[in-house]
Parts: sequence; structure tokens; C-alpha cells
Amino acid sequence: MTDEAGDTTTASEVDFDSRIARLIDRKGREGQVVDDRTIPGRDAETRSVEVEQRLESALGDRGIDSLYAHQADAVDAIRDGDHVVLATQTASGKSLAYTVPAFEAAMDHGGRTLYLGPQTALIADQTQTLSDLAFDLGFASGVHVAEYTGRTDDTDRKQVRDQQPSFVLSTPDMLHYALLPHAHRLWEWFFSTLDYVVLDELHEYRGVFGSHVSLVLRRLRRVCDRFDADPQFICCSATIGNPIDHASNVTGAPPDDFTLIDTDTSPSGPTRWLTWNPPEQSGGEGRRRSHHVETKELFVDLVADGFQTLTFTRSRQTAERYATDSADALRGQGDADLADRIGAYQAALTDDKRRDLESRLLEGALRGVWSTNALELGVDVGGLDAVILDGYPGTRMNSFQRAGRAGRGTDPSLVVMVAGEDQLDQYVATPPDDFFDGDPEVAVVDPGNEQVLDDHVRCAARENWLSPADSESFPNFETRVATLVSQGELERRDTQHGPRWTYAGDGSPQHEMNLRTIDDQSVDLKDGTTTIATLPLSDALRDAHPGAIYHHQGRTYEIGDLDLDRGRASLNPTWADHYTSVLTDKDITIQDVIEERHPLPRRDVPVRFAAIDLAEQITGYERKDGKSGAPMGTMTLDLPEQTLNTKALYYTIPEDIEAEIRADYDFPGSIHAAEHATISLFPTEVLCDRGDIGGLSTPLHPQTGQSTIFIYDGHPGGVGLTRSGFDSITDLLHTTLDLLDSCDCADGCPACVQSPQCGNANDPLDKHGAAALLRRVLETE
Ligand SMILES: [Zn+2]
Ligand SMILES: [Zn+2]
Repeated sequence: MTDEAGDTTTASEVDFDSRIARLIDRKGREGQVVDDRTIPGRDAETRSVEVEQRLESALGDRGIDSLYAHQADAVDAIRDGDHVVLATQTASGKSLAYTVPAFEAAMDHGGRTLYLGPQTALIADQTQTLSDLAFDLGFASGVHVAEYTGRTDDTDRKQVRDQQPSFVLSTPDMLHYALLPHAHRLWEWFFSTLDYVVLDELHEYRGVFGSHVSLVLRRLRRVCDRFDADPQFICCSATIGNPIDHASNVTGAPPDDFTLIDTDTSPSGPTRWLTWNPPEQSGGEGRRRSHHVETKELFVDLVADGFQTLTFTRSRQTAERYATDSADALRGQGDADLADRIGAYQAALTDDKRRDLESRLLEGALRGVWSTNALELGVDVGGLDAVILDGYPGTRMNSFQRAGRAGRGTDPSLVVMVAGEDQLDQYVATPPDDFFDGDPEVAVVDPGNEQVLDDHVRCAARENWLSPADSESFPNFETRVATLVSQGELERRDTQHGPRWTYAGDGSPQHEMNLRTIDDQSVDLKDGTTTIATLPLSDALRDAHPGAIYHHQGRTYEIGDLDLDRGRASLNPTWADHYTSVLTDKDITIQDVIEERHPLPRRDVPVRFAAIDLAEQITGYERKDGKSGAPMGTMTLDLPEQTLNTKALYYTIPEDIEAEIRADYDFPGSIHAAEHATISLFPTEVLCDRGDIGGLSTPLHPQTGQSTIFIYDGHPGGVGLTRSGFDSITDLLHTTLDLLDSCDCADGCPACVQSPQCGNANDPLDKHGAAALLRRVLETE
């Protein structure tokens, strides 16, 4: 069959479409579907490729008689010695593309493969699949698969090293802590015969974690080089705007050495994609009905109609709370059996709990799940009938990744994107053409992040002496080495081959740092003596401060006490119907201006990129009614200040513009509104979550002596996000002005200038003043 023939409608599609029509027609939902399109299904395109006989027959036993064309292309490119990036959809069979060459290398000459995944849940899943396949090849094949992660205990770790498997699955964290530091003593057998490094979920390696991983992989390449191994990288990625550049940045291998494979030739059914905008509330200035409530009703209707449904929502607390509400609603309408088959899935759950949910989802026993992005990665839970996105996930990439969970074989599936009332959601929802046709976002890592670079240079020196040739691996190598020598961390020796630097300390620098978060303090949430969840410190300050309402697996708690010294918070069950959000105070100190430009039409508005310190303190919280969201009063809190060293872009407002704006508008409200709107649209330019960046506007900053708008990277050291924003500031401000002009609310609403993340409860805000300000800066009418 060809693409055109894909339009043929089958009986199951007719039934499917009439069920969707019923869902839309249900009372009160007219006009909420702002876009309705079907992404056609696709027939498989296969190509025969020569595969080693035993492997071919083991695959045949699994019903795999030929490879999809994209898998075959990848296998060919890998056999040709290229690095490869496979950027295709979820469930397109990316793993077979590396399994074939990796297993063949093991059978042919004992070649080894290192598989790195960002999450242990994903690794456990992969280990199982690959071990089963290796088992079928027989022991004599020489293919042996083993997991080596934080979950592997000491005895098993020793056993893995003794058995010397051909395929090791691990995390970048373990590579950093456990493999590289002992490369010469315990792992020489592995690194000296390493043929392939598989990087699964490459797009997850961005931001500060990605910057760390990019440096760990540069260390890996040095170590391999020492053993005369030169492994090929096989990268699997979601669809991003810069797959080859990103793979090159993450691995340190030159972009020209990569082959990109991004045409998915696996079969799929048609996907009906509805963009859903909750109705505006009567008399309410751009206020819309809660997208959570709207999503819940769709979810309940779909589950009741027999669709196995997965909802992706933004926070763990929302997933927990609405899973419970959905079960209650099903019970209320007499579907008690279905009510017991609803779950909430999120990263703070224990491993056992998560695995239980995964397997019940795969078996079909669970009929509906509310999940955070924790289910976005490749853990196999089977295909779902319907996926609901509760609020725009923030980027096209994340949206399509999550939507990819819908679809079982070539059956039709449904995706509903329910827009929230905030700026980015409304921007994407009306009209959504940009969303479907726009370019995917660009993923950013910054191996030059000084905050993390020095640590990795120290680790590298501990793993093997450094030489001037290492300037190829590490950005700003000479400066960093000179600094570390002056700090007594490195020692210089002059040899006949030139200078060498060795690590001068006696400990293990690898164990002094963590790739995931620079501050690794955590807080246990205790229901009586039971720990129900563990949160990183910054999340705990936000979600588990005294008085916070906390939802967990069907129960609601109020936080009693938060003891930071002991790292625990006590929870008390409650029937409270309100929810809470924190209020914060922020201060920015500019440490070092890295670059200054004048890219805006108003040439006297400098835009600067700088290293800054952000001091942030949670000063209190607001209680809001669970149904209407109406404020119910604020309470103060006494919590420690947190400081973040990061990067920011900022611009100052010239006095004449300030005077003009002051004459007609609320000036502090104008800069605050401009800051909010700009931040909300930032993810349209750069691959990040709105939570990855933050902002501050002040009518008088003590260091600039002027009114200043800051946009900063929300991660230690900065991870390149505001650097990218600095490069595209003119476009960004134009998009922001368009948003302000096109919103038809009277005085600002959640779709233009109000932000759910504002630490000042959205006060003051002046939308018209913000538009006037940007018009002056951009010199447009
Ligand atoms: Zn508005
Ligand atoms: Zn604000």
C-alpha cells in the first residue's frame, strides 16, 4: 500500500470516529474543539539486510522477519563506521538498530557495547528485552547482557566484572562514579574492546545534566583513546531541531562524522488530534475554565467508553490529585469497577510502585493513568487508545513524545491537547498551525559551563594525566588548567613530550560531585513513620513547607512540620479542599558582564549577557479555593534563602522611555508584564521548560542605576538557555509584542501577562504599558 491508499477508511475507524463525535457533541462542549485533524497512518516500509544467522532466527521467533527501512539504514551506516543519530518517534523500533550491530560485533570478535540511558526504569526494561534475545542465541554466541546501575548491589557488580559481558547497560552517573575512575584497574577488558556507545533518549541530555553528560563522554573518549579503542556513537533521540549538532555537542565527536536517520518507516494507525480550549468563564477577563477539570471530564468519559487513556500533566501533585478525583467521578456515575483501575504515575513513587503501575498498564488492567513526564521516556507500557495532554507540555518535542504513547499497531488513536489559560498554551492553541508545522525546538547543552567544567577536568586528570592535546576535549582548556594549578588542584610536570598535568589531591574527585543536581540535599515526607516520597530540597521548600497541601496516591495531607536539619517533613491527613502556592522574594547581583550588544532598533538599549547571583527566598504562601481558585488569604513562612549562581540576559530602559511610560501607565506593572510575557514565549525559541528560566524586573537596579529586566537560567552555572535567548532577543521581543497586541482581554489575563509561576501573585501588571514599552524599544508602530 502507498501513502495515498492510507486514506481508505476501515470499519474500526468508522466506529472510532463515531465515538469521538459523541465525546465532542456531549452537552456543553460545542465550540471547544479549536482544531481537529487526523495525522494519517502509515504502512511499514521494510528492507532486507543481511543479519547473522542465529540472530536472524532469534528475531524471526519474535515475528521480526525484516527490518524497517530506517532500521536497515542505521545498521548500514553503523557498519560503514559512522556515528549515527536516529531521530524518530516513540515506538518506532530504534533499539533494533543498535541491537543488530552490537550483538554481531560480540559474536564476531568479542566487540563490546556500552548502553547509557538517563533513567534506571528504562534500563531495567531494556536489560530484560536484550537478555531474553541473548539467551535465545545460546551461551556459545558470546553475547552476554548485564545491567550495572545504582540498583545493582556490590555482589552483582563484582559478578558483572568477573563475567565480562559484551553488552553493559548503565547510566551516565555510573559511568562517572564507577566505571571511569577504575578504567585501568577493573574495566580495562571493557574499554579496550569497546565498539559502540549507545546513547538512548539523547534529547534528555540537555540543560545542566546534559552539560555534565557531555563532559563525562569527553572523559570516556580520552580513556578509550588510551586503550586504542575508538567507539562509534549510536544516538537515539526524539525529534529535535538540531539532532546532529546536539549529538556532536553531547559526545564531542565532530558533526561531519554523524549520519542522521529521521524518516520513520514503522507502521502506525491514524491519529485523530484535537486541540481543545476550555470555555471562557462568563464575565471573566480571559479566565477560562480550569484545564485540569476539563481534562478530568474528558478522561472520565473516555475511560467509561472503553478507551485506555493516559493523561500527561505538569506536576506530581496534579497527577495525584486528579487521579483521585477521576476515580471518584467514575464511582459517582456507577463505574466502581473502573474507578479501582485508575492510577497516578510520577517519579517520587518507589520503584516497586512504579513497576506495578507499568505492568498493569501494559496488561490492560489499568484503564486510565494520570502521569507526569516520568512516562515520557521509552519504558514499554504498550500503546494506549487515547492520550490527553493536560496543558501544553511546553515544547513541540515533548508534546509529540507524549502523544507517541497513543496508538496500538495500526488501530486509530486519539490525542487531545487541552490548553491551559496561560500565555504559551493560548499561543499554541489559537491557531495551532505553528504547533504542527513549526520547526522542532533546538536542544542546548553547554560543555563550557564553568560551574561543572572544572570538576570534570579534575576527574579527567585523575583518570589519566592531561596534556595540551586535551584542549580538543575540554573548552577553555588552558585557562581552566591554569586556574586549577593555581588552586593547587593540579600539578604540572614538564616531560620530554611537553607539559603534563596530574591530579594533586588524594581523594576521588568523581565522588565529590553529582551529575543530577549540584545541591543533593533531600527531604523525606513522613506519614507517621512511613516515608511516602522523597523530594529534592528546592522542591520540598515549594511543595512541603508547613501548611502546604500535599496529594499522594489518593490521599490529601497538610504538611505539619518541615525539619531541614533532619531532612524530613511530617504529613497529617486532611479533608481540606483548598490548595496552596508559594510567594517568593528575589534579588539579583550582577557578577560579571560577559558580553554586551546593541541589537535592538533603539540603539541605546544595551542587551547584556552576564554571570549573576540570584538570591531567592520563599516568604509565604497563598491559599486558594479548590474549586474556583479564589484566594483565601496568605500566610508568612520563615524558610532559608537559597542562592543560585547562574547566567542571565538583561536590558535596561532609557530614561526618556521610562518617563513616557510613567506618564501614561503603571511603570513597575509595565516592566513586570513585559518580563512575564517574554519568559512565557521563551520556549518557542529554545528547547526548555518554562520552569527552566525565570525573570526579575525592577524599576531601579542598584548596579545598573536604571530600570532593568532580567531573564535568567534557572540552573547552576547557566546551561546555555539565556545565551541562546541573548542571540535571538530581537525576534523574542517581537513575538512578545505580537502576543500582547493580539490578546483581546481588557487589562491582562493568563493568556498574555499573568503567570502561574509569579512569586508576587501577579501584582502589579500593566499589559498596555508593557506593549507601549516594547514598541518604543523596537521602534515599531
Ligand atoms: Zn490577555
Ligand atoms: Zn512576576
